[in-house]
Amino acid sequence: MPELPEVETTRRFIEPVLTGARLERVEVRRPRTARRNLRPEDVSERLNGRRVGAVKRRGKFIISDVEGDLTWVTHLGMSGRMQIAKPGEVEAPHTNAVFATDGGVELRFVDPRTFGFVAVFTPDEMSASGLDRIGRDALDDLPSVDEMSAAFAGRVPVVKAALLDQRFIAGLGNIYADEVLHVARIHPARTIGSLDRDEIGRIRNAIVPVLQSGVAHGGTSLNDLAYLLPDGRAGEFLERLGAYGREGEPCRTCGTPIERLVIAQRSSHFCPTCQHLAD
Ligand SMILES: [Zn+2]
Repeated sequence: MPELPEVETTRRFIEPVLTGARLERVEVRRPRTARRNLRPEDVSERLNGRRVGAVKRRGKFIISDVEGDLTWVTHLGMSGRMQIAKPGEVEAPHTNAVFATDGGVELRFVDPRTFGFVAVFTPDEMSASGLDRIGRDALDDLPSVDEMSAAFAGRVPVVKAALLDQRFIAGLGNIYADEVLHVARIHPARTIGSLDRDEIGRIRNAIVPVLQSGVAHGGTSLNDLAYLLPDGRAGEFLERLGAYGREGEPCRTCGTPIERLVIAQRSSHFCPTCQHLAD
């Protein structure tokens, strides 16, 4: 699913299209896409005719200010993407929402598996949505080593699962958590309690460079091409991955074949030499 680098890449493309633009026509084609609002029609009714302010991101959420004290939240879910198009251009299948601006551009929300959503919240609805429980952003607001040590202590016991927990650090998913642990040389099944301060420091210090590298290459488009950049190109980070999806292929550091292990119902990819399990 799209993770922080894919969402940030998307945000950077749509920001110049949306910021300061007025939405002239908003269509939600599938009520499920607007399910986070009490009434699915709220999305189109509230956005129509309104001007968009800043387009921000927190973790995997794109959060835009809209005049009238509204907040437009977009989550790409498992398979969602934003596409920038001109009116009249042939639509991709599963275009579940369309946002046409006064700048002559259509932003299209394409989401075959419909786990993604768009929502427009009032301040009260925003508070009630639980979105304020999203943790600190892994790229822009990463906790210090001490904060990470303290926060990890009371949480899920396995480091891979801790990195996926969006309530503490927001933005890492399965791909980039595997990459972070590979760079940090930490086995994904290590328990939090077994990690010393130096090891937590290695994990912490790997997060921003891994994410920045992902963003620099437009994120990771897997072979299904569910995620694409808003201009239709594929993200190019796939070929640069060190661990994720590389089972049986040689570690780029030591040559040992990458192994795969299921942790918390998710595949984890790691190098058994660089990331050996401590006693
Ligand atoms: Zn290795």
